[in-house]
Amino acid sequence: MSIRVAEFYSGIGGMHFALKESGVDGEVVRAFDINTVANDVYRHNFKEVRLMQRCIESLPMTLFEGLKADLWTMSPPCQPYTRQGLQQGSEDARAKSFLFLISLLTKLQRKPKYLLVENVTGFEKSDTRTILLRQLVRVGYRFEEYVLNPLQLCYPNSRTRYYLLAKLDAQPRECSDAEEFPYCFCSEVSGASLIQPVTDTNGNVDFERGIWHHDGVRQVKQFLENLSPEELEPYQLSQQLVDKHECVHDVVTPDDRRTLCFTKGYTWYAKGTGSLLKTHGSVNTTDLTVSQNIRYFTPREVASLMGFPNNFSFPLDTSIKQRYRLLGNSLSVSVVAMLMDYLL
Ligand code: SAH
Repeated sequence: MSIRVAEFYSGIGGMHFALKESGVDGEVVRAFDINTVANDVYRHNFKEVRLMQRCIESLPMTLFEGLKADLWTMSPPCQPYTRQGLQQGSEDARAKSFLFLISLLTKLQRKPKYLLVENVTGFEKSDTRTILLRQLVRVGYRFEEYVLNPLQLCYPNSRTRYYLLAKLDAQPRECSDAEEFPYCFCSEVSGASLIQPVTDTNGNVDFERGIWHHDGVRQVKQFLENLSPEELEPYQLSQQLVDKHECVHDVVTPDDRRTLCFTKGYTWYAKGTGSLLKTHGSVNTTDLTVSQNIRYFTPREVASLMGFPNNFSFPLDTSIKQRYRLLGNSLSVSVVAMLMDYLL
């Protein structure tokens, strides 16, 4: 039987593409997002889905009840939890809609049987996580938490993210406002043995170290577009950026098996927003010149590195900057597809 999916914070549809890639028989019965540019991309790819351009927290209970959804997918705004942000957690106004969704779980007559949450690492340390877990216990959800990176699925792209899977099949129990939940991250999914993150001397988990060198990871060249010099023109690195001192880019070649996480600031700020590609010769980062043929990955290439299928596309009027921005906010389709398979 086909399951009914409600896609909250749908963006450009990363969760929907993951549902399609997974073996799960499901239908997205409603998608929700306030970003008009993202919504144009979503509609362009999924014309049949009812997409609501509304603030989630402003919607009435009857609407959520009426969805009769079996699975809620949620990738709420990550700014309250990022290292770069103020880390205000639930105090941050952008956490409000997610707290509202969490609060609905007790009130709904017909509760979703399954939940899938995606967020940045940092979320696991937030008070929002604690509020969420307490609520799940009270309502009767069993849950598992993961911190995963697409490198673990052999994609040459790093994107360490927090995931929570929950299923409504436990006895609801009292859970005091003081109850804490120690971190308990699963490192295996569905029998697939994943690479363990490294623990430092203080016992802190370092999610980035320890997963870089893995022979099975595919080469970057498998994800590149075959474009003419004219088509590549907008993606060439300008001499102006090269000359800037802070332009200490991460440069990779087609033979490499890694790229940095592409963030929404890719191409705006030089450092740490994603890798650059050098198509010919070896990499000499101390002497970057335009003649070395260095360029940005195209939005389509970034999408491929994040696991988006070939049939994903942008409307023609979505600008290049908007494309990078939307992709930076989106998710690793392959990791989520694997988690959906496992959950359902
Ligand atoms: N997973 C999505 C992106 C999630 S980013 C993808 O694959 O693209 C978070 C999204 O939440 C953004 O697109 C933002 O516009 C949306 N959003 C933030 N606050 C919201 C609110 N209160 N109601 C509805 N959507 C919201």
